[in-house]
Amino acid sequence: MKCPACENELSKIIAGEITVDVCKGGCGGIWFDRFELQKVDEPCESVGEVLLDITKNEKIVIDQTKRRRCPKCTGLIMMRHFFSVKKRVTVDECPGWGVLVRCG
Ligand SMILES: [Zn+2]
Ligand SMILES: [Zn+2]
Repeated sequence: MKCPACENELSKIIAGEITVDVCKGGCGGIWFDRFELQKVDEPCESVGEVLLDITKNEKIVIDQTKRRRCPKCTGLIMMRHFFSVKKRVTVDECPGWGVLVRCG
């Protein structure tokens, strides 16, 4: 599966009880499948330790004004919202499959 934000290939990582796909070596985004997201209250905190291991490519600049396409559905533009303005957590949501979270 490719990262919706930077097209990097996502890698599967186990964070406690959940499995997420992370954009290692890319923008550092994290894909939660819907049923994985249901198990967590705060996605960025739940993967806190894993986040430390995600190497971001600092050269990749993400255009936050751009809407993202769902990596699982063809042609679906995901909904953008923010968990917390202060933490700069952005969430792109597919109504069917899950969300791409970027913990800013
Ligand atoms: Zn990415
Ligand atoms: Zn989708």
